Amino acid sequence: MNENSRIIELKGIGEKTAELFARAGVRTVGDLIRYYPRSYEIFEDPVPIAEVCEGWVCTVSGAVFGRIQVSGNRNMQVTTLYLKDLTGTLKVIWFRMPFLRTTLGKGGALTLRGRVMRKRDGLVMEHPEIYYPSSKYEEKKDSMQPVYTLTAGLTNNAVVKAVRQALECVNARQDILPESLAAKYDFMPYEAAVKKMHFPENKGEFLEARKRFVFEEFLIFTLSLRRLKDREDRAGNTFELRDCPEIDRFLEELPYSLTGAQRKVWNEIRSDMQGDFIMSRLVQGDVGSGKTVVAFLALLLAGLNRYQGALMAPTEVLARQHYENISAMLEEHHIPLQAELLTGSMTAKQKREAYERIESGEASIVIGTHALIQEKVSYRDLALVVTDEQHRFGVKQREALAGKGKMPHILVMSATPIPRTLAIILYGDLDISVIDEMPKNRLPIKNCVVDTGYRKTAYNFMKKQVEDGRQCYVICPMVEESEALEAENVLDYSEMLSEIMGDSVRVGCLHGRMKQQEKDEIMESFGKNEIQILVSTTVVEVGIDVPNATVIMIENAERFGLAQLHQLRGRVGRGKYQSYCIFMTGSKSDETKERLDILNHSNDGFFIAGEDLRLRGPGDLFGIRQSGIMNFKLGDVFQDSVILKQAAEAAGEMLGKDPELRNPEYTRLSSALERYITDQNLEATL
Ligand code: ADP
Ligand code: MG
Repeated sequence: MNENSRIIELKGIGEKTAELFARAGVRTVGDLIRYYPRSYEIFEDPVPIAEVCEGWVCTVSGAVFGRIQVSGNRNMQVTTLYLKDLTGTLKVIWFRMPFLRTTLGKGGALTLRGRVMRKRDGLVMEHPEIYYPSSKYEEKKDSMQPVYTLTAGLTNNAVVKAVRQALECVNARQDILPESLAAKYDFMPYEAAVKKMHFPENKGEFLEARKRFVFEEFLIFTLSLRRLKDREDRAGNTFELRDCPEIDRFLEELPYSLTGAQRKVWNEIRSDMQGDFIMSRLVQGDVGSGKTVVAFLALLLAGLNRYQGALMAPTEVLARQHYENISAMLEEHHIPLQAELLTGSMTAKQKREAYERIESGEASIVIGTHALIQEKVSYRDLALVVTDEQHRFGVKQREALAGKGKMPHILVMSATPIPRTLAIILYGDLDISVIDEMPKNRLPIKNCVVDTGYRKTAYNFMKKQVEDGRQCYVICPMVEESEALEAENVLDYSEMLSEIMGDSVRVGCLHGRMKQQEKDEIMESFGKNEIQILVSTTVVEVGIDVPNATVIMIENAERFGLAQLHQLRGRVGRGKYQSYCIFMTGSKSDETKERLDILNHSNDGFFIAGEDLRLRGPGDLFGIRQSGIMNFKLGDVFQDSVILKQAAEAAGEMLGKDPELRNPEYTRLSSALERYITDQNLEATL
């Protein structure tokens, strides 16, 4: 038997069990070896009975108090006993185990481990594991038992047994880390580390072992990205983009002056666009930091030099908003350039006309959704592509663009606060600029976290704001079941609110089920203050900019992630008026309270990211996990940021010396790399 053997060759695994394992992705002995536990059960000290709480899984130790009773009928016999220690007694029950009356009836110390529930007559420990006599527990104490991810029908015990056998096949030849690296970072030897991943004796051992595999995971990840991205060398810059007086004039005429950070970033962009190579730059800036105007300057530079620039937004609503703002700016500042909107929902005729204006060069600033880079669009002379609030602008999209002529300059705008190390890896081929300063005219948003009893007060407050000429958002309660219900919910809610607000206030609503045209109309009316209160699902989350809106009230705030709440809140506080964010929650749990408290006390996206991490530990912080390529089995980019950094450095060093990884030392690593790229379908996701 070796790592390639099918698991059916293991003792105790037949066709049926093998099928269950296959559903968990485990087919070979090697798969099983790498099927690391999801968590570990730690057998800690017993707790005094007086301290036991509802919902806990815990261990108690004591003696049987009184008689052990068996009740119920033949199908469901319930065994009940009372366990007593120095601090109190606890009721304990088991189902279908009447024989316990005899086995446990002999007296002496007894240790039980199980979940404590609240029943009509108080706390009850249900169906606990039994350690009798108590010395049996002492033997296990402080050890860690693996807990595996299971599929229906597969028990943890079955996995443990299979893994124990599989581990006999572990040998150093399976190790993919080159020895030089393992030595450099002083990792636990491979064979020992694998074993300790499954059956560590204590936490220290586990953490030592884990470090090695997290490193390995990050290393493969980084190398794969580099392998895919380094293919395209940066092209030379053949566009001639001279400084234009119109841009200086525009900056002078703006009602505000750029912040220092905006100016710094704009200078970086400009010198890139005028430099020897094509620009590839990421601009990171928190919501409301003013990324759009910087992008606009870059688009102007392209357009005024008789090239074209394109701005790609993630949603049609946002694309339209950009289009309208940009058209207005062009007109107001008498800049002789034509903006063009291109989105998927336009009619065939509208699209055809847009294509013509793009092809002829009549349109110099083209704004839209992904439709911008579809095959049918051909540009006369595209010099710049900006993507707004987009996670990545991938290899595929670049290739699509390059196919349309010369490779344009690329600018990626993002509000996602990812740590720098990660940004460097993810956007390894991008230079990074940070807008780390908010416009000065901003008053910090005032936040409050309230319960549903406050709703009436909140409505009154909104009404007052509207009377003062301001506008409000209400983010509607979420409905888990379906988008259809959510739409209905938004409709009901806005009707209800409309009634409360009276005739003088117009309440509009927006949800994902609406036709694009309807959405656009609603957003337009809201933009013009023809609608004062917009009741919406989270459609408004990204990028919408209506500076006159000063209140956002978020229903069911506890159901959103911190990142999403921060994005939603970013819809207000965008102008000179004092703005307010009301987090409405029906939940009384401490966890909710603590989470919302973070937002209540800070408006800083990076700080919030850090706090979220502290509270929740590893997780899908700020949606980065969901971005598809970050599905690490073990590693967590925040918690393990030190290892991530080491892996990134190691990758850089290796590739520097041996770009193709031809050294025989790297053979196994190389094939792991290829496998990873295929398995994760990286070429498509990037
Ligand atoms: P984001 O970075 O979230 O995309 P926007 O670019 O939409 O932010 O800018 C938010 C608002 O701030 C807009 O209404 C914009 O006109 C305004 N703004 C941008 N820069 C400044 C500045 N330097 N001073 C004052 N207001 C600004
Ligand atoms: Mg924006």
